[in-house]
Amino acid sequence: MAANILVVGSLNMDLLIRVNELPKKGETLLGGPITEIPGGKGANQAVAISKMNTSVGILGSIGKDSYGNALLKSLEDHKVGTRYISRSDNKTGTAIVIVDEKGSNQIVVSPGANLDLTPELVFKNKKAIEEADIVVMQLEIPLETVHFTLELAKKMDKITILNPAPAIKLSEDILKNVDILIPNEHELKLLSNNWIEGAFNDPIKASCEELLEKKVKTIIVTLGEKGCFLMNGMDEQTFPAYKVDAVDTTGAGECFIGGFTSTYLKTMDLHDSIQSAIKASAISVTRSGAQNAMPTQKEVETFLC
Ligand code: ATP
Repeated sequence: MAANILVVGSLNMDLLIRVNELPKKGETLLGGPITEIPGGKGANQAVAISKMNTSVGILGSIGKDSYGNALLKSLEDHKVGTRYISRSDNKTGTAIVIVDEKGSNQIVVSPGANLDLTPELVFKNKKAIEEADIVVMQLEIPLETVHFTLELAKKMDKITILNPAPAIKLSEDILKNVDILIPNEHELKLLSNNWIEGAFNDPIKASCEELLEKKVKTIIVTLGEKGCFLMNGMDEQTFPAYKVDAVDTTGAGECFIGGFTSTYLKTMDLHDSIQSAIKASAISVTRSGAQNAMPTQKEVETFLC
């Protein structure tokens, strides 16, 4: 069945080890047992969307190894469409995540098969884009693929949403094909030349204005516990976050994308979609983990009711 939302992005297996304290340079430590957790920004966003009862598929690349098999099964269990996932000769993308008692972490990602998601592979699977209404992307795959896919999606008249994570600078050629850009503060700072902090300057607003000039249509900056800021040609508004007892903010940004995109598909209303996104991400930070912390549509609808 065709999916309404297509995520073109990364799939990783996260290998998590808990330690008392993070290792210092040159230090070897004994940690707790290793836990394998399906992840990758693309896969996490796809799961967040699916949990909101919205049909979603992912176009990505994994290895022909056991981690690849486990990622496929986990996505299928979450009802994410997997038929546009290719298997490459490289190993499945893997992230080593070390977390200390206070929740601080060190992460190293080996992208592996994610790097085989080339423009050619996207073109071969262009039916996936044709079938979708909205295309969602992040930056854990080759930048040339991000560029190519956004351009192709716009040529096909699709709505494009880019979460520019992990943070890197992007050219105007990429930005001009983005309908809705959803960075966090750190990512926005890196995208902009106008981030100047000072008593008489609002760096978030100045940076958004610069990106709008570079032809991004709408920007939503996520601000952690402060909520988010929306700016486009017609609108400029801050939406406060819900006050909750946060225990783990891992994946909050990915959950925000899930809540936003699934509601946007149904309503095409930015305000409604942002409300869903801040509710979904507020629920997710009250739970541990990423994919398993993401709420269902029912939980979002009944939140605070
Ligand atoms: P991550 O990298 O951990 O996935 P992020 O940096 O991409 O997160 P944030 O801006 O930290 O994204 O958070 C995304 C959204 O999650 C915020 O816009 C907000 O709505 C919600 N959120 C984050 N932290 C909290 C919190 N402590 N309380 C309530 N809502 C929160």
